[in-house]
Amino acid sequence: MKIYQTKLETMDRENLKGLQLKKLQRMIDYCLSHSSFYRMKLRAAGIDSGRCIERLEEIRGIPYTTKDELREQYPTGMLAVPMNQVARIHASSGTTGKPTVGYYTQRDLDIWADAAARVLTQNGLQSSDIMQVSVGYGLFTGAIGFHQGAERIGCTVIPASTGNTEKQIVMLHDLGVTVLMATPSYAAHLAERIVSTGKRHEFKLKRILFGAERCSAATRRMIENTLQVETADNYGMTEFFGPGVAGECAEKNGMHITEDIFYPEIIEPESGKALSDGAVGELVLTSLEREAMPLLRYRTRDLTSIDHTPCRCGRTTARIQAPKERTDDMFVLKGINVFPSQIETAMSRVRGLSPHYRITINRDEAFQDSALLEVELSESNAPMEERNRIQAEFERWLREIVIVRLGVTLCEPGTLERFAGKSRRVFDHRYGQE
Ligand SMILES: [Zn+2]
Repeated sequence: MKIYQTKLETMDRENLKGLQLKKLQRMIDYCLSHSSFYRMKLRAAGIDSGRCIERLEEIRGIPYTTKDELREQYPTGMLAVPMNQVARIHASSGTTGKPTVGYYTQRDLDIWADAAARVLTQNGLQSSDIMQVSVGYGLFTGAIGFHQGAERIGCTVIPASTGNTEKQIVMLHDLGVTVLMATPSYAAHLAERIVSTGKRHEFKLKRILFGAERCSAATRRMIENTLQVETADNYGMTEFFGPGVAGECAEKNGMHITEDIFYPEIIEPESGKALSDGAVGELVLTSLEREAMPLLRYRTRDLTSIDHTPCRCGRTTARIQAPKERTDDMFVLKGINVFPSQIETAMSRVRGLSPHYRITINRDEAFQDSALLEVELSESNAPMEERNRIQAEFERWLREIVIVRLGVTLCEPGTLERFAGKSRRVFDHRYGQE
């Protein structure tokens, strides 16, 4: 099995910790001399030199950086180099209107490409592959990040971007694409279309890599079964370059973190207490390499667990489970927290449902909230008896898993809107944003 940077990825854990400590000390010194934001923060915490941190565990003495601080520092407060040294700017959409901006020096871009190449190699990408990148290009980091990583590996890259599904299918077929990179929801859509051509055997597609959005087990299974392909999941965010933070290897037992570039911690979100391997908590990341926009102990708001034991693939880097929830995905209905993954779990228990769904939340004049869950059936024109069975079984599972009552409507296959980019499944009309 191929490893992209063998020395860094299979290093003895003690040596890796030594390397991480050295890089962390260097990063602290860099922040003190280059970032006015971190100079103030670090000095307030009594840290005036990288040498103040003598053991990796002492990273806990460094204050967190939060998403709110990034918003407050928008647009250039987090910048640690003069603008003429910034080679590129990316941005992701923010929940409050202001985007999250990522700045990169040329060195940052170079390190990012290596990180992405590592993760893609973990995913099984090889130099002989032809990869179609069907995620949105532009400001968004996903497409370009994977694109550069794949070029570094030596693959043939097709920057298809999103939209025009007919053309996507034609390219997949005619250009002999072996690997598709797409969001899980768009990949599910393309999978349906490929099958509907009746010529699956003429496509050379053997692997689908997911990026940019969380992938439910149900969607993944549907894609693997429909197309008979391998799939691999990835993790990254604009705050930390983009894709390249972590990715699955062939063992599919968590995602290896690019640990000499991003230092991971798992904490209890409320108390900040450090959690040990296997315990689910919030992922906190520190950039160990970054010139333009270093981040120390950034609270990702992603809930996951970590495993430092060596992997059968030969890599020694720690693995995180695919984040279960971002706290922002969750919605509250009648005082109960509801996570989309709970709904997906209920869906996966019932035979006859597709992975496509939409939740619409409304508030009436008496301030009573209600939620309607629309789910597509996997077969069209199912007999009424069958629909009734599906409806009853699904409602029973929902009651068990979600607790709060959701209205359920079953729809015919292909009737809910498909999204080429990040899928939106929850439409909340209660606060007037829609
Ligand atoms: Zn592995």
